[in-house]
Amino acid sequence: DKSDHAEKDVTSSTAKEDQANQRDGKKYSQKADHDEETRPDHRTPLEKYRPGYLWVSDITRQNWCEQQMLYTFTLPTIVEETPVMVQGTDLHLARELACHNVVNVKVTSSEDIWAIKVLNLNTAVQAFLNGAKLAREVPIFGFPLEQDVFMVGLIDELSQMCTQALSANNLDELMDYVFMRMQMLTCVNRLFIEYVHQDSKETLLQKEVTFCEEDVSRSFGHYMRFWRGHREVEGVDIEEAWKCQKCDFNSVCEWREKKAQEYANRNRRKNKLL
Ligand code: SF4
Repeated sequence: DKSDHAEKDVTSSTAKEDQANQRDGKKYSQKADHDEETRPDHRTPLEKYRPGYLWVSDITRQNWCEQQMLYTFTLPTIVEETPVMVQGTDLHLARELACHNVVNVKVTSSEDIWAIKVLNLNTAVQAFLNGAKLAREVPIFGFPLEQDVFMVGLIDELSQMCTQALSANNLDELMDYVFMRMQMLTCVNRLFIEYVHQDSKETLLQKEVTFCEEDVSRSFGHYMRFWRGHREVEGVDIEEAWKCQKCDFNSVCEWREKKAQEYANRNRRKNKLL
């Protein structure tokens, strides 16, 4: 029941606006490239490409291939939307609209953008407090894993399982109930990945993602060292060289060339020993 899920007439920045904001990194990089030509540039990647804050999607792209992510900031690319990508975007939107209405809002300042994010977050919280079971495209922001880098993202879908009916005999019990519900919202403790068939729109598999907080924290710290300029950019390991086959930058990738050279030298040394 749609009315059970959400408030209507939600003010929304829409995922498209967020994608546009993420592309802003490109504008910064073009400016950065121009600056590089005229004077030595001592800025860190964070200052150069993401002044202000990082996107969660920066980290997921970095996790795929850090070198590739960096090329998307520094080399001109044309991202062509394939039919599969368009279908995926439409599916996302259809699922969002099944949960709440989307209203386009004209924004003229950063404050407007942030106000809309906060309103969208408030709508999701309010919907949960009103008994909704799920919310979609929920904005999140903060300083994760004790790093002093502000991060912004969107959760595709948040669902509340924790389904107890409201039962209170007096004000004390009512307050307890409301605070318990609010607490639950801050305790996202399970993560799922959902595979949906694009044509039938049916869920094929919902798989829980288990993760070790220590490992995530260690990887995050490693990624942050790149953003702060404490280490050089890295490409994929040899075990993940299959990613290079479909990469738009494989013909110009310095990391790939360096690794191929290292591999050839190692083989030459091995052959000499035999
Ligand atoms: Fe990364 Fe490979 Fe692409 Fe280089 S060619 S950017 S290492 S995926």
